[in-house]
Amino acid sequence: MRWFLLHERTAVFVEKGDWYVLVYNPCQHLQADNRCGIYETRPQICRDYSTRNCEYEDSWVYDHYWELPEQVEEYAEAVLGPRRGRTFRSARPAAPSRSATRSTKG
Ligand code: SF4
Repeated sequence: MRWFLLHERTAVFVEKGDWYVLVYNPCQHLQADNRCGIYETRPQICRDYSTRNCEYEDSWVYDHYWELPEQVEEYAEAVLGPRRGRTFRSARPAAPSRSATRSTKG
């Protein structure tokens, strides 16, 4: 989830137990007339999309809503408790060994 939020103009929300990702950027194939520029070869996720469950009222109320990775960390700490001496970040990769960084020349 943090990965989604590391991208600009994205958000994650939870509503009635279902999790959603919001992408506020327009698709690169959306044409000026609001039609799909690759309609015949559009991705499956676009083919599966339906407006059947769209909400058209202005009262957007979610169970949870995050726009920043830091908000996820705060939420995780509030729900799971503080993680003493540990971080929610992924472990840093190990530095390459000296032999792996040595030049093959000379
Ligand atoms: S249908 Fe899919 S590919 Fe086409 S414009 Fe919309 S999001 Fe982009």
